[in-house]
Amino acid sequence: MSTRAEQYVADVLRREQLSPRLVRLTLGGPGLAGFTSTGIADEWVGLIVPGQFQSRYYTVRSWDGVELVLDVVVHDVGLVTEWASGDCVGDQVTITEPKGSFAMPEGASWLLLVGDLTALPAMARIAETHAAAVPTRIWAEVPDLEELGGYLPETADTTWLSSVGEVSRDGRSATSSTTEGDDRGGTSRLAAAVEQIDWPEGDGYFWMAGESAQMRAIRKYLMRERRLPSTAYDVMGYWRAVAARQPRPVDPGPIWRAGKAAGKSDDQIWADYDRASQEQASQEQVQQ
Ligand SMILES: Cc1cc2nc3c(=O)[nH]c(=O)nc-3n(C[C@H](O)[C@H](O)[C@H](O)COP(=O)(O)OP(=O)(O)OC[C@H]3O[C@@H](n4cnc5c(N)ncnc54)[C@H](O)[C@@H]3O)c2cc1C
Repeated sequence: MSTRAEQYVADVLRREQLSPRLVRLTLGGPGLAGFTSTGIADEWVGLIVPGQFQSRYYTVRSWDGVELVLDVVVHDVGLVTEWASGDCVGDQVTITEPKGSFAMPEGASWLLLVGDLTALPAMARIAETHAAAVPTRIWAEVPDLEELGGYLPETADTTWLSSVGEVSRDGRSATSSTTEGDDRGGTSRLAAAVEQIDWPEGDGYFWMAGESAQMRAIRKYLMRERRLPSTAYDVMGYWRAVAARQPRPVDPGPIWRAGKAAGKSDDQIWADYDRASQEQASQEQVQQ
């Protein structure tokens, strides 16, 4: 029996700029024929873009049985960022089997969602799925408030936080913030926002996603201060604020593009890549 996770080859049908930092990609094509949603509202897939073999995770914003929509944050650098920033329509990508983690207990009387821009697609889908049945509050921290004010469904009560300051619930009147941050995701006030939450009475469910270090702090807060049982929350690190992506000895991207331009098959291109990696390794040995 094979234990290899299912993978699907999909065509990029459309690319739409939702905001300066958020790009909507619609995938489709015959390769998605066997794709089946888990039905879990925060489900995600691994995405492997042309010329790369590392995957990055993206929330399935929607799947209608034919087209699969991913909303991708473009930040300053990054493997998917570089690809999604350009004209990727017509490219073929690989996606992995979907997985989900959202598990609101039966009978939960409230739902709280907190996240940054990378978590926005998941929060939108969770709210679309559950907010009509369970009173839902969202704290969403985004850099592009002007454009994203209408992104979340109105069934949820949303507080927008700007990565440069807090704004009112209608998405206007930003105030400046003095919290420190970095030049990649901007400032983040999510951890502080969680500590200021006026928690509803009764049993509910708390879901949060964003930068990993902040998520670790929040888990501690939920366990030690709020004393929530582990079944009452789900807190996920979606990305890591590290100084820079570790460069690989040989970047497969240019080799892939040159191979494609020369009409080579995938196997031939990967053989070129293996050769280039071996040459690089022997050059490094000579230099040592
Ligand atoms: C379950 C799950 C679901 C996710 N869903 C989504 C989604 O729907 N949409 C989405 O855009 N992202 C989503 N993410 C986050 C996404 O996988 C990461 O942000 C990913 O690292 C981006 O890949 P990249 O190749 O562009 O950058 P990378 O090559 O991975 O990173 C390059 C550099 O950028 C920095 N960086 C990475 N992510 C961010 C960021 N968000 N903000 C600022 N700096 C960053 C890194 O610290 C690094 O220095 C999800 C993650 C998980 C685990």
